[in-house]
Amino acid sequence: MVVKSVNLETVCGITSTLPQNDKIEIAFAGKSNVGKSSLINALMNRKAYARTSSQPGKTQTINFYNINDELYFVDLPGYGYAKVAEALKEKWGKMIERYLKTSKQLKIIFLLIDIRHEPSVNDRNMYEWIVYNGFEPVIIATKLDKINRSQKDKQIKLIREGLNAKPGTRIIPFSSLSKQGRDEIWECIEEIMEV
Ligand code: GDP
Repeated sequence: MVVKSVNLETVCGITSTLPQNDKIEIAFAGKSNVGKSSLINALMNRKAYARTSSQPGKTQTINFYNINDELYFVDLPGYGYAKVAEALKEKWGKMIERYLKTSKQLKIIFLLIDIRHEPSVNDRNMYEWIVYNGFEPVIIATKLDKINRSQKDKQIKLIREGLNAKPGTRIIPFSSLSKQGRDEIWECIEEIMEV
């Protein structure tokens, strides 16, 4: 898809009313620092439109990016910050859950996992939670450029096993430096838009 326009249309905090959009939504989840903003920027062909949520203490929000007036990218708050108080973590969790449960337009959830590491307990919980809510996440294995090509298959296997992913779960390796994987991710989105 040619991205002609990008607009951060809605920013939702913990108590905000979620928008009732009439176009399909594609959500992005992952732990802080996994490369979520970099991926979203790469997909939108923008250098720094989506801002990183990775500084501790920074307000966490659900951001809705309107793409070409055709679809929305939904940037979910990054999880996994050790320094954040449990009560606040729980609030974010509830906010994400409220979104997953109520959105009528959510078609794909991309769950981002760093290709270098075995999925964490938080990653696994997030995966299970997404599945529990009736979605089959597509996994994006980020920071592909940080490993040797020879390690790729082994790391993908580690992610698949670490998440205990359902058979057939799609895992797309991606690098925001080389942009490898970007076309495959867009194809995945376009397949859904055609349905
Ligand atoms: P977020 O917190 O998940 O939004 O993560 P960011 O997109 O802000 O990325 C966190 C850090 O990882 C930044 O320093 C990025 O430059 C770096 N990063 C993100 N994606 C990649 C990648 O594909 N390759 C490399 N080498 N670094 C990346």
